[in-house]
Amino acid sequence: MKTHEFSEMNIDGVFILIGYIPNTEMFEGIVELTNRKEIIATRDMETNIPGVFAAGDCTAKKYRQVTTAVADGTIAGLAAVEYLSYKK
Ligand SMILES: Cc1cc2nc3c(=O)[nH]c(=O)nc-3n(C[C@H](O)[C@H](O)[C@H](O)COP(=O)(O)OP(=O)(O)OC[C@H]3O[C@@H](n4cnc5c(N)ncnc54)[C@H](O)[C@@H]3O)c2cc1C
Repeated sequence: MKTHEFSEMNIDGVFILIGYIPNTEMFEGIVELTNRKEIIATRDMETNIPGVFAAGDCTAKKYRQVTTAVADGTIAGLAAVEYLSYKK
């Protein structure tokens, strides 16, 4: 990328890294975002809007891995169930 020189490599696979900006434009002005467009969520994955939850790489956090995304999803799901059961 820096030299703009091209070369061929004999490889079996490739992982594409497309960047770190989450696709959260649709939530701008609705839920609170960081200046990096990450959704701000509590420990229970709730946004600034009660009953609206976020999980995974789109949220503001330090470590982005499959395991942390899955854990976020579990917490968000359980918290959503709890939120709805109190609403009844
Ligand atoms: C190159 C690379 C290598 C990685 N290697 C590892 C690794 O070895 N181990 C590890 O644990 N983690 C790894 N990670 C990180 C891991 O992939 C992520 O942390 C994890 O996938 C996050 O899960 P997620 O569900 O939050 O987001 P994603 O997996 O990104 O899923 C988000 C989904 O939402 C979809 N989407 C986006 N916008 C919309 C929309 N408007 N409407 C509908 N759907 C939409 C996307 O298409 C995507 O399918 C790697 C990441 C990259 C980029």
